Amino acid sequence: MRHIAIVGTGPAGYYSAEAAQKLFGDGVSIDMIDRLPVPYGLIRFGVAPDHQSIKNVARRYEKVALSDNVRFVGNLTIGGQISIAELQDLYDAVIIATGAPHDRELGIPGADLPDVFGSAAFVGWYNGHPDHAEVDPPLDGTHVVVIGNGNVALDVARVLSKTPDEFAGSDIVLHAYEELEKAKTEHIALLGRRGPHQIAMTPKELGELGRLERAAPRVDPNDLPEEGADALLEPGMRKSVTFLREFAAIPESFRADKTVEIDFDFFAAPVRIEGDGKVERVVVERTELDADLRSVGTGETYTIPASMVVTCIGYQTPEMEGVPFEHGRGRFANDEGRILPGLYCVGWAKRGPTGTIGTNRPDGYAVVDLIAEDIGEGAGKAGRKGLDALLAERNVEVVTFRDWKKIEEAEAERAREGSPREKFVAIEEMIAARD
Ligand code: NAP
Repeated sequence: MRHIAIVGTGPAGYYSAEAAQKLFGDGVSIDMIDRLPVPYGLIRFGVAPDHQSIKNVARRYEKVALSDNVRFVGNLTIGGQISIAELQDLYDAVIIATGAPHDRELGIPGADLPDVFGSAAFVGWYNGHPDHAEVDPPLDGTHVVVIGNGNVALDVARVLSKTPDEFAGSDIVLHAYEELEKAKTEHIALLGRRGPHQIAMTPKELGELGRLERAAPRVDPNDLPEEGADALLEPGMRKSVTFLREFAAIPESFRADKTVEIDFDFFAAPVRIEGDGKVERVVVERTELDADLRSVGTGETYTIPASMVVTCIGYQTPEMEGVPFEHGRGRFANDEGRILPGLYCVGWAKRGPTGTIGTNRPDGYAVVDLIAEDIGEGAGKAGRKGLDALLAERNVEVVTFRDWKKIEEAEAERAREGSPREKFVAIEEMIAARD
């Protein structure tokens, strides 16, 4: 029997488990460990609450979770109640699938002022992540600055712009729904340090921005390259840029009854965030592209008002004691997924925060192929029995998948009308719901 532990139960974790099941059949026993009492990581806490069709991929993960040789071990912190080295002693292979839950740092003066939030915190707040329940964004201000030109920046701008009706069918948590209902947002500046051809936004997400009830996007036509240049772009990017061209052509009459403007500010790098005790404005430097398409400052600066700033500039993986780390890239040091003998990583923990949820599938299958090469039939390790003994010795009570199903049921029962669930936000509430 091969014993595998997977740390993290988001997409990368579940695709790895699925791959191991397919490859080893009954010859594998898999424990999927999460520090939270609830599974699915990024699907629950990262994917936007109004993107339920994407969240539905959890059904596929549930099929894996319900099979006999896979077990969910929730509410167990690796590096807290048990160390990674202890896991390695118990399992033939340990796969780290913990994603990249921390914000990349902006590193400019004023970035630590109150009311400057990283996207992990802000997205975590509206998605009900227990770590970010206390985030208190000042939505009574009118001007929001969103830094970054990726899909997370689009998610944040869209969520800030939607009317309560537009959240119908979503699972946005009540505390965020109620605050957003009262929000006074009028202007959202989306700062991109490069140009329209360098965005990291995908067409579906950009298209949504053009169909909002009370908000309209604005693109300055002067920022757009000549139309002929779009021919050189790959098809997805070309489609995205076509949306930007459409936004640039929106007539003023269309904006007349819109109360929120989403302003794409290209060639704009934030250099300083200022304010008296809290954010009040962002100083921005105009940029241009060098021959390698990197942004370089022109020396010209201007100031935009800001009642709140959300940085959406990517994420990083937190370090784990005893696990080699690649600091420059914010991920575990690894060779195609191998970290050390018996220790592997997948997903964002392996390659950094890029790609879609589906990108994790080949990643999971590839790491399991490596494991098959490395561990043969297994070395007779103690596996889950050994883990249970250790946890009993330490009086650690974990959350099972059956417990999770009870939590899930309770969340569905208390959902607002039309919403699939009202998530429990506090860990204690989650645990109480299974009892
Ligand atoms: P991302 O796609 O890497 O975009 C980060 C953006 O931040 C880029 O525009 C980048 O500009 C900019 N940036 C980085 N450092 C900066 C700095 N110091 N100052 C100003 N701008 C800076 O990251 P993300 O938006 O966080 O998304 C993470 C991943 O999740 C991506 O793969 C994304 O596609 C995926 N995602 C997908 C969906 C979806 O499919 N619906 C939704 C959300 C997220 P440069 O290009 O100049 O570096």
